[in-house]
Amino acid sequence: VVRIEHVETIVVEVPRRRLHAMASFAATAGRYVIVKVHTDNGVVGLGEATVVPQWGGDHMRYYGERPEEVVRLIADVLAPVLVGESPMRIGPLLVRLDKAVKGYPYAKAALDIALHDVKGRILGIPVYELLGGAYRDRVAIAQSLGYMEPAKAAAEAQAAIAEGIKTIKIKVGRDPSVDLTVVQAVRQAIGSGYDITIDANQGYPDPKTAIRAIRTMEQEGVRLAEQPVEGLRAMADVRAGVDAWVMADESAWTPQDVLEIVERKAADCISLYTTKPGGLHRAIQVAAVAQAAGMPCNVNGSGELGVGNAANLHLCAAAQAVTLPCVFPATAPAEKAPTRIAGRQYVDDIVADAFRYEDGYVYVPQGTGLGVELDDSKVARYRVA
Ligand SMILES: [Mg+2]
Repeated sequence: VVRIEHVETIVVEVPRRRLHAMASFAATAGRYVIVKVHTDNGVVGLGEATVVPQWGGDHMRYYGERPEEVVRLIADVLAPVLVGESPMRIGPLLVRLDKAVKGYPYAKAALDIALHDVKGRILGIPVYELLGGAYRDRVAIAQSLGYMEPAKAAAEAQAAIAEGIKTIKIKVGRDPSVDLTVVQAVRQAIGSGYDITIDANQGYPDPKTAIRAIRTMEQEGVRLAEQPVEGLRAMADVRAGVDAWVMADESAWTPQDVLEIVERKAADCISLYTTKPGGLHRAIQVAAVAQAAGMPCNVNGSGELGVGNAANLHLCAAAQAVTLPCVFPATAPAEKAPTRIAGRQYVDDIVADAFRYEDGYVYVPQGTGLGVELDDSKVARYRVA
């Protein structure tokens, strides 16, 4: 029987192509924790804690983690639970991690991802096979525009569409009139043949402000509004007051959250993450509840690097409910990047190869495990701890 021998953590910081600003925070770099789970037969599984300390759930129900805390928590509390155990029993091991410490979904997600990578490598199959099999082999990605001047937003939208992107997601949630100006500029630049979605990151102060803002943006063809306000009561009010689909992101972390959203009619669709529920095993459960309620999902994230993005792609493949355009980078090392602007959040990456990107779609890796390897020279270049 294969046993987990030790868990290694590496903090990396990779610069973004541009500042990514939204209602809740702004980021110039991805400062994340890469995890390596080593087994006694020499197999090493990779994971990523895509930690964002300034981003969290409704009303402090969930909150961010910092890389330094993830490293300490894994060393002091989580790794000792795993060492000596079989990496094949992922679900039961997650229950034991929850007993060791409540919360910390990002740290646990990194371990869950690494355990799936280990298990896939041992069995010689891709991670999506462990999750139930692939419904799809490629995923349409949306271009996520942070807060930008209207002219800059329009220029980036045009450049992304020239490289194949079909959906533009615009960060809003400031002054509704400023938001409308940006949406109008992007619509004018790209024409009527492409979708525009908006994400307010809980930024509108109350449901009536959100409803008025979304109503004006609906005139520009906006048919999906992500997390306009904070809290399920406010979300339900907005949903009842607009024609656009309302998507829950900050409100939807766990399977239980989605059950509550269904009961309170607080959203039409769900933004599914690998990290929010604490990894792939639980993310599939979130998707199953959404699926049962007839709510479509996309897979969204915090600007993952290559390891986290591989996990996202396997989740996209194996979750039937994921039918909406997804929002994560088209991860690529600088020298192998297939795009200049489309899906390009970072100037470089720590994985050895680019994911296959064609005409607005990112393809699910087909190798064993996650199907990605680290480029050790890049890890050394971007390592900060
Ligand atoms: Mg969001």
